[in-house]
Amino acid sequence: MMSALIRKRPQDWRVRPNFTDYDDTRADFSWGSVPRVCDGMPGGGCNIAYAAVDRHARGPAAAHTALRFVSADSADEGLVTRDLTYAELAGLTMRFTNVLRSLGVGKGDRVFTFMNRCPELYVTILGALRNGSVVCPLFSAFGPEPVETRLALGQAQVLVTTRALYERKVAAIRDRLPSLEHVVLIDVDDGEQPGTQGFWTSMGAASDHAPVTHTTADDPALLHFTSGTTGTPKGALHVHGAAAMHYVTGLYALDLHADDIYWCTADPGWVTGMSYGVIAPLLHGVTSVVDEADFDAQRWYRILDAQAVTVWYTAPTALRMLIKAGPELAAAHRFPRLRFVASVGEPLNAEAVWWGERVLGLPIHDNWWQTETGGIMIANTPAFDVKPGSMGRPLPGVDACVIRRHDDGTISVIDEPDVEGELALTPGWPSMFRAYINAEERYRDCFVDGLYLTGDLVRRDADGYFWFVGRADDVIKSAGHLIGPFEVENALTDHPAVAEAAVIGVPDPTVGEVVKAFVTLKDGFPADEDTMRSLMAHARRRLGAAVAPKIIEFTDALPHTRSGKIMRRLLKARELGLPEGDTSTMETTGAAS
Ligand code: ATP
Ligand code: MG
Repeated sequence: MMSALIRKRPQDWRVRPNFTDYDDTRADFSWGSVPRVCDGMPGGGCNIAYAAVDRHARGPAAAHTALRFVSADSADEGLVTRDLTYAELAGLTMRFTNVLRSLGVGKGDRVFTFMNRCPELYVTILGALRNGSVVCPLFSAFGPEPVETRLALGQAQVLVTTRALYERKVAAIRDRLPSLEHVVLIDVDDGEQPGTQGFWTSMGAASDHAPVTHTTADDPALLHFTSGTTGTPKGALHVHGAAAMHYVTGLYALDLHADDIYWCTADPGWVTGMSYGVIAPLLHGVTSVVDEADFDAQRWYRILDAQAVTVWYTAPTALRMLIKAGPELAAAHRFPRLRFVASVGEPLNAEAVWWGERVLGLPIHDNWWQTETGGIMIANTPAFDVKPGSMGRPLPGVDACVIRRHDDGTISVIDEPDVEGELALTPGWPSMFRAYINAEERYRDCFVDGLYLTGDLVRRDADGYFWFVGRADDVIKSAGHLIGPFEVENALTDHPAVAEAAVIGVPDPTVGEVVKAFVTLKDGFPADEDTMRSLMAHARRRLGAAVAPKIIEFTDALPHTRSGKIMRRLLKARELGLPEGDTSTMETTGAAS
């Protein structure tokens, strides 16, 4: 299946894509000539919130719905939604800017958010950006320890959260956070909780007019912690100029059009949920659906169906959980308006791409980027053929290559196709991170010979498509072969019984490492000898004896980060009886969204 191609033909386009000529658009592209999303900002500045909200609130889209919140307590019979128009969002945003100003919080000060996907989260993010403050979103399921580490590392001045989260996870550690001057609770009034103030009390006292703080493209805007898949999460600092990237990738990679109903399932506690759940859709003036609840297969199909979602951006784990839930659930729903589905965050196995074709009527379009890059770099987009299992080609404005590192610290670029090496990017796109907080050396080490080295292994084929091989840390060395875990996982998930697979190398005195796979099965398939035999045979047929796993273990669940990534390092540590390391981002129950 991996060699198959999903052909795109203009007669199948439901809407003409924004990006139709790969070579010409890339050749003509320059970052200096992209639409100026901050045009009209006083003093010629650049501010993400101005670009995302003000432009629309003052123009023809003022009454258009910006955010549609699907309430967590929607009943089975129907979804309860609350809409905020661009004009309403602008008013609330400006009020919150004034709240911060009344507290003496200004440009460069750090404002942390710690709450579910509710309207206050979006208002806080945008109001703080408008104020020139640096926003750092925390995922609401973090426990006290990860919260404390991040608040301390990020020198938080303000924390906006809920009463329950404050009481359970912040109150006891507050003494140890001298920089934290203000805690604002979204669900209490002033005076109800000592040491805090009420969000809506303050909002009520604030005016809904607040000139934007003068910021430039180089001023810090966002601090994002990485997912912690390979180690302790790193704090990556991003600037307001990133808005240009979010706009361009919203245009080319997500193919946003003004009348879209768009749904990004990622939580803004992670970079995807911020760049593409908050910023890019607002820059494009579309209506963005926000689900306030966690993953639930039936609920997700209902949202896609009832909200008539047109563009959907989600993640491989979520897709695999939908696959696991079986086709009957999907068959009860219709998605006639859905025209583009994209995925990010982990390798997307070929079977998941085909599942999209069968069940949603559209292939899933994989794309690749990282917290550090701030925006989508490599993507499958609507107008171009999809090779299932490939993450696509570099977008306009992005130059990617494959390199080899040498022992003396130098690198060389691999020009021939189909050779595995590390993915490297030429810096220059506007959403590139500017620092790892408190880790200057680590930041500097990312750059060699003018290239940014991503830490991911890939190969590029003769057509310019990139194929993910594995993270540099995860690659398995067995009997002289370098084995990328994704290739093995991809083959395993092609087996009808397999829901999810994770592959690691286990030390072996003879061959260096042997390949071991952890596998979860789809509902209805027994974890017995027959399944094992059939899976072993399938793997050997697909991969050959050298690459196929020597050991397969059935398990009920794989460890994931809260952003939905398989934590292979944890499987390996457990296998070897080693310390588990930083598990602050590990998901403890259910699924990630
Ligand atoms: P940490 O850096 O803390 O270990 P992380 O790398 O998982 O965590 P993120 O920045 O959220 O943190 O994730 C980016 C990484 O996710 C990429 O470097 C890559 O390894 C993986 N990734 C993202 N998209 C894809 C994709 N489409 N295919 C394969 N891998 C992907
Ligand atoms: Mg990383």
